[in-house]
Amino acid sequence: MTEPVLTFTDRGIYCPAGDFFIDPWRPVDRALITHGHADHARPGHTHYLATDAALPVMRHRLGEITAQGIAYGETRQIGGAQVSFHPAGHIPGSAQIRVEVAGEVWVVSGDYKTTPDGLCEPFEPVRCHSFISECTFGLPVFKWHDQRSVASEINAWWAANRAAGRFSLLGAYSLGKAQRLLSLLEPQGPILTHGAVEATNAILRDQGYTLPDTTHVTPALNPKEVPGALVIAPPSALGSQWARRFRPASTGFASGWMRLRGIRRRRAMDRGFVISDHADWDGLHAAIRDTGAENIYVTHGYTDIFARWLNERGWNAQVVPTEFGGEEEDSAPAEAAE
Ligand SMILES: [Zn+2]
Ligand SMILES: [Zn+2]
Repeated sequence: MTEPVLTFTDRGIYCPAGDFFIDPWRPVDRALITHGHADHARPGHTHYLATDAALPVMRHRLGEITAQGIAYGETRQIGGAQVSFHPAGHIPGSAQIRVEVAGEVWVVSGDYKTTPDGLCEPFEPVRCHSFISECTFGLPVFKWHDQRSVASEINAWWAANRAAGRFSLLGAYSLGKAQRLLSLLEPQGPILTHGAVEATNAILRDQGYTLPDTTHVTPALNPKEVPGALVIAPPSALGSQWARRFRPASTGFASGWMRLRGIRRRRAMDRGFVISDHADWDGLHAAIRDTGAENIYVTHGYTDIFARWLNERGWNAQVVPTEFGGEEEDSAPAEAAE
């Protein structure tokens, strides 16, 4: 029997024919990386390969790395495997990785979202025999609304806060979500950013992604001079001393997890905006169907439930253990398990 194109090891997803790993969680010689989030792009590998669009943020986060870039759709031969990277629609630069060995094709989705957001490269279905799919939001309760309607909710919230003389403090993950929200805002006054968000903004602007003007919050900034401003910061910063200079304020949080009422309540935010950089229930199914794959391996999220659902509908699905999750929207907040 010939070896599978990809295998699951304790260091990560491995390709024996090409002797490389995809998004490995322990240091390896050659790592192909789907995108810059910390659970996928980890430090310590000898060689990195990622899309040209993903590399600048990876270099910023990982420091000195030996890395090569690859264009979307470009094919490269690594040992006995042919690899190419295709847009995953998750965050700018994110990719699904296609691996072909002797005519058999496997695709690793990384994290993905099937609906275009106007900022990152739109998701592209890739035909394959076996598909390794994330399923962060693999429950029927997760159905996203059109992003235009979420954008108008956020813009209306900001306008109402301004009218009432309040700041709008919006919690969003610093890579991906923050920039997507920025691109959806109708400028109605100053937009201020936490350092973690602004550093990423600067890198993406340099790459040619279009973002509105933002002002980095420094100690010199006097909140009185920017009344009614909207402030974007990572969720962890919102409850900290850093955020206390902006008073009075209304707080909001933007995440797919805001779909769950219990989590909304526990986060003690004034507003929860349901918007995610991962596929919802319907998006996961559409993506899986469009690959034409017979074999589906599911990772991170509601894996057991999702694999069972697929098996009942004729796919050959199984759960594979990975160590993804832990950054950004990837992992369910502890409250989701209750
Ligand atoms: Zn991610
Ligand atoms: Zn992830």
